[in-house]
Amino acid sequence: MTTDNLLFLLARLLMGGLCALAAVLALWRLAAASRAGRREPVLGLMALVLGVGVAEAVQDAWWNVAQAPTDPIGFNAWLWIGFDLAVPLLALRVMQVMAERDAALARLAALSVTDPLTGLANRRGFEAKAHAAIATCRRQGQPVALLAFDLDRFKRINDGWGHAAGDVVLAGAARAMAGQLRAGDVLGRLGGEEFAALLPATTPEEAAGLAERLRLAVRAEVPHPEGGRALTTVSIGVAALGPGEAAESLAAALAASDAALYAAKEKGRDRVEMAPPRLAAP
Ligand code: GH3
Ligand code: MG
Ligand code: MG
Repeated sequence: MTTDNLLFLLARLLMGGLCALAAVLALWRLAAASRAGRREPVLGLMALVLGVGVAEAVQDAWWNVAQAPTDPIGFNAWLWIGFDLAVPLLALRVMQVMAERDAALARLAALSVTDPLTGLANRRGFEAKAHAAIATCRRQGQPVALLAFDLDRFKRINDGWGHAAGDVVLAGAARAMAGQLRAGDVLGRLGGEEFAALLPATTPEEAAGLAERLRLAVRAEVPHPEGGRALTTVSIGVAALGPGEAAESLAAALAASDAALYAAKEKGRDRVEMAPPRLAAP
C-alpha cells in the first residue's frame, strides 16, 4: 500500500468514526427529546445521514485495502473526503448549538418563576408548585394549610434607610422563613414584601405553631437597619384549604389568609392570626 493510500484510508476511518460518534449522540438526544415530549425530527434525519456516512466509510475502507491498495488517489477523491469529513463535524456543531439552546431555555423557564431578590418562587412559581402540592394532598386525603406574611412597617425601613436596606431585609426575611420550613413546603414572594407558604399534610393547629416559629425566626434572625433594640417583625395570617378544585381552593385560602393577616395588622402587628374555620380541611 502506498503512503497516499494509507493516508486516504486513515482519513476514511476518521470520517467513519466521527460519523458513528455523531450518529450515537443524535440518537441519544432524539431519545431524550421524545422522553421530554419534544419532537426533534432534525435529529432523526441527522442520525440517518450519519448512518449512511458510516456505511460509506466501511465500504470505501474495504475497497482501499482489498481492491485498490496501490491505485493513485486523485485530487477529486481528496476533495470528496474533505466534504465527507465536514458532515459529521457539522452535525456535532449543530447538536452543540441545540444543547446550548436547551440550556438557555431551561434558564429562562427557571427565571420566569423565580424572584431574583430572594431566590424564592415568584407568584407564578408559587401558584404552579402550590397547585401540584394541593393535588397530591387531595389524592392522599391530607390536610393543607396556607400562611400569608407581610413585613411590619416596611415603608419606614425604605423611607428611613433606603430601598437597598429594604432589599437586604427582604432577602433576610426570606432566608429566615425558608430556614423554618420542610422540604415539601412551598414558599413564595407574591409581591412587594408579601410572602406565602403552602404547607402540605399540615393541620391548622400545626400551621399556627409553625407560623409562630416563623414569626420568632424573623425577629431573631433579620437585623433591623436601625440597629440597637429595633426588630424586624412580620404579621402572619393562617388558613386551612377547603375541598374543591386546587385552583379554586388556593384562591379562597389566599383570600382567607389575607383577611387573617389584615386582622393581625389591626391587632397591633408582629403576631399570628387564624382565619375562621370557614374552610374545612379535606
Ligand atoms: P404594614 O405594617 O401595615 O404592612 O405597613 P408597611 O409599611 O409594611 O406597608 P405595606 O405593607 O403596604 O408596605 C409595602 C412597601 O413595600 C411599599 C413598597 O415601597 C415596599 N416594597 C415593595 N417591593 C419592594 C422591594 O422589592 N424592595 C423594597 N426595598 N421595598 C419594596
Ligand atoms: Mg404589604
Ligand atoms: Mg407591610
